[in-house]
Amino acid sequence: MLSKLKRLINNMNLIRIRFWIQLISFVLFVYGGYFAIYLGSKLPIFACPYNGKSAGACFLIPLQHQLSMPVQILLGGAGIAVIFGILTFLFWFIFLNKAWCGYVCPFGTFQDWLTLLRKQIGIRYSTYTQHQFEKLSKIKYILLAIVILVPLLIGVGALGGEWSAAFCQICPARIISPTFGGDFSQWSIDFSTKTSMVLTAIGMIFAGLFFIGSFVKKRFFCFFCPMSALHYIFSKFSFVQLRKDGSKCTRCGDCYAVCDMQIKDIADDVISTEILRDDCILCLKCVAACPEDDALHFDILKLRAFSSTKQGFEKRMGIAKPKGDADDKHTRA
Ligand code: SF4
Ligand code: SF4
Ligand code: SF4
Repeated sequence: MLSKLKRLINNMNLIRIRFWIQLISFVLFVYGGYFAIYLGSKLPIFACPYNGKSAGACFLIPLQHQLSMPVQILLGGAGIAVIFGILTFLFWFIFLNKAWCGYVCPFGTFQDWLTLLRKQIGIRYSTYTQHQFEKLSKIKYILLAIVILVPLLIGVGALGGEWSAAFCQICPARIISPTFGGDFSQWSIDFSTKTSMVLTAIGMIFAGLFFIGSFVKKRFFCFFCPMSALHYIFSKFSFVQLRKDGSKCTRCGDCYAVCDMQIKDIADDVISTEILRDDCILCLKCVAACPEDDALHFDILKLRAFSSTKQGFEKRMGIAKPKGDADDKHTRA
């Protein structure tokens, strides 16, 4: 019975299942408010609270507001509520970790749909060189520093209140998410102070870059997302893990060829068993594409939930062997 179930899971068409999970999650998180669904404001995804119909909200906005409280309040009774909020947020991280990005985040899903649209239109696909990739990949940690340090500087009085939720002011999700519900009010610059004007203008530029970038790169924004950096920092403690058995890997590169996030180590690193890297979105396409038994596997609480198999990969991916798919090929710089 158990082996039958395992065979069924290992042979499933991951692309189709992922598409449906992403679609349902997108509808839930963008329009759930119409059905009075609310899953709280501690979510580790970009379900933006600026969209009034969202079924839950990204934690980055309450986190910035809480950290900007005056130090004496933060260290007093209010600090307990802040710690409770952070612990709830951390639970969500540990529960699914980066699978939130690969399967649930509406902003990630929207980028995948823009990629599908690009393919339909026939716009050429582009990749980063390894050098560009390594440099750009660090930007998410700079944005994470803005999320945490700017509110703390407000709290100690070094910055004024107009810096409140500074990251949200530059975040493209603030502008784009309400648009899904027909609300275009965020497509504007706030002229109330110089700081707000600069920050909201940067937000508009980032929103424009989001669309342009997503038409030439897969998951363009996810490379820069501070939530992705946070996920990675706590990934070691997660219930879910992406693992590799290097002794079974032939370094054929099939996993790298299907990886939207250009993670070279997934094919090249035959030493590490913990193979999750900071840009990974735990989509599991690499596991599905790998043609070697158990070379890659996705574990839940140390139990193998989904493994690579010799027979399964064409069926699971719902495509021919990826080597023939020029669009999914990356430059191996
Ligand atoms: S990395 Fe992408 S999918 Fe993950 S939270 Fe950020 S925008 Fe969403
Ligand atoms: S697809 Fe499997 S065998 Fe090929 S490089 Fe990746 S992990 Fe190794
Ligand atoms: S390494 Fe694997 S799970 Fe991570 S993004 Fe690439 S294909 Fe998806």
